[in-house]
Amino acid sequence: MKIERREKPEFYTPTYEMALKQFDIAAEKLNLDPNVTERLRAPKRALIVNVPIRMDNGTVKVFQGYRVQHSMVLGPAKGGTRYHQDVNLGEVTALAMWMSWKSALIGLPLGGAKGGIRCNPKEMSRAELQRLTRRYATEIFPLIGPERDIPGPDVGTNEQIMAWLMDTYSMQVGYSVPGIATGKPVSIGGSLGRFEATGRGVVYATEEAAKKLSINLNGASVVIQGFGNVGYVAAKILSEIGCKVIAVSNSKGGIYNKNGLDIKRLYEFSKDNPVLSEGKYGDNITNQELLELKCDILIPAALSAQITGDNAKRITCRILAEGANGPTTPEADQILIDKGIFLIPDILANSGGVTVSYFEWVQDLQNFFWKEKEINEKLKDIIVGAFNNMMILTEKEKVGSRTAALMMGIKKIAEAMLIRGLYP
Ligand code: NAD
Repeated sequence: MKIERREKPEFYTPTYEMALKQFDIAAEKLNLDPNVTERLRAPKRALIVNVPIRMDNGTVKVFQGYRVQHSMVLGPAKGGTRYHQDVNLGEVTALAMWMSWKSALIGLPLGGAKGGIRCNPKEMSRAELQRLTRRYATEIFPLIGPERDIPGPDVGTNEQIMAWLMDTYSMQVGYSVPGIATGKPVSIGGSLGRFEATGRGVVYATEEAAKKLSINLNGASVVIQGFGNVGYVAAKILSEIGCKVIAVSNSKGGIYNKNGLDIKRLYEFSKDNPVLSEGKYGDNITNQELLELKCDILIPAALSAQITGDNAKRITCRILAEGANGPTTPEADQILIDKGIFLIPDILANSGGVTVSYFEWVQDLQNFFWKEKEINEKLKDIIVGAFNNMMILTEKEKVGSRTAALMMGIKKIAEAMLIRGLYP
C-alpha cells in the first residue's frame, strides 16, 4: 500500500532530517506498515513556550523553549532537557525521536520525549538559571507528570536544574513528587549511580565491542570529544580499567598527550578553567584534529553531526562509541562501514542514562531505594543483552549496527501501536 507523504514540516532542520533518514532506512528494512511509518516520522505533540524571566540587571528577557513528545505507546514519555544557544524545534524533535527508539531497544516501558531552551547557560547566573528553570517547568506543566512525561538532564543542565524542576512541579501540585524528573540529587530521590550511568554504559558497550574485535583494553588508546557528564565519566572509568585516554576536548578546544592524560586531575582543573590547554597537561588540539587522531576507541560525547561526509574518511579509530546523540551523519555512516570501523550506535551506546533514569523513576514511585552495586549490575545486564541482540540482527539482516539497533526499537513500538489500534 502506498500512502501520500506529507509536506515537510516547518521544523525540518538538518538534525531532524538526519533522524528521518536513519528511520527510513530501518523502516524499509522492517517493511513497516506505511501508516505506522507516516505516524512515527513526526512527533505526537510539540509544545513551544516563551519563557520570560527577570535578568539580574533588572531587564526582562524572553527565551524560547520546547517540550516534544514523540511517542507514548510503550509508556510515559522520557527524555532530557537541553540548555544551549542552538536549541531549536527540529533538533528537540530529532532527540525525542531517538529517545523513543532507545527506550524501546533496551526494553524499557517508556516513550520518547525531549525538551530544551535556547539560551547560553554559561553566560547566566545561578539565580537567572533558577528563574528560567522554574518558569519553563511551569510553562510545560500541562504536558509533564510522573505518569505522563518525565524530564531528565542533557547538555547544559545538571542535578541542580532537575532539583528546581522537581521542586516547581511539587509546589504546583502541593506535595513532593520525586518521580517528575530524573537525574536529581540523591538527597531528594535521585538514584545512586545516575550521574555516572551514561558514561558507564558507554564503557560497558565498548567492552563488548572490544571482546568482539579481540582488542585488549589494557593500554588501548581512547579519544573523547566532550568533557562533560558523559565524556568525563567515560574517560574516568576507561582510564581506571587500563585504557590510555590520549585526548579530550570541550567547546573551547582540546588537548592531546600520547602518553595518556591524568583524567581526575584534568577534571578538577576543568571545573574552574574552561580552556583545557591552559593546564599544560598536553598539546593544544582543535576539535576537528581530535576526531581524526589515530586511536583504538573514539567517543564523541558532545553535540550532533560531528562526523560528517567531509571528515569520515579521515577517521581512523577501530571502535566508534557514540556517547552523544546523533554525532554521525548518514553520509558518514556509509563511509565508516566501508572503512570497517565498528560502530556502537548512540541509541545503544548512551542508553545507560535513560536506563538508570528509569531505575530512579521506579525507586521514586516505590519509595524504596537500591544499592549502587545492584544498579550497576542491572545496567550492565541490559546493555550487554541489547548489544548481543543487536549483533545477532546485524548478521541475520546483513545491516550495519545502527540500522539493526533502530530496527529493534522501531519494531517494538510498531507492534504496540498496531495491537493497541487506532483511536477513535
Ligand atoms: P554536558 O553539558 O555535561 O557536556 C557537554 C560537553 O560537550 C562539554 O564538555 C562541552 O564543553 C562540550 N561541547 C559543547 N560543544 C562542543 C563542541 N562544539 N565541540 C566539542 N565539545 C563541545 O552534556 P552531557 O550530558 O555530557 O551530554 C553530551 C552528549 O551526550 C549530548 O549529545 C547528549 O545528548 C548525550 N547524552 C547525554 C546523556 C546524559 O545522561 N547526560 C544521556 C544520553 C545522551
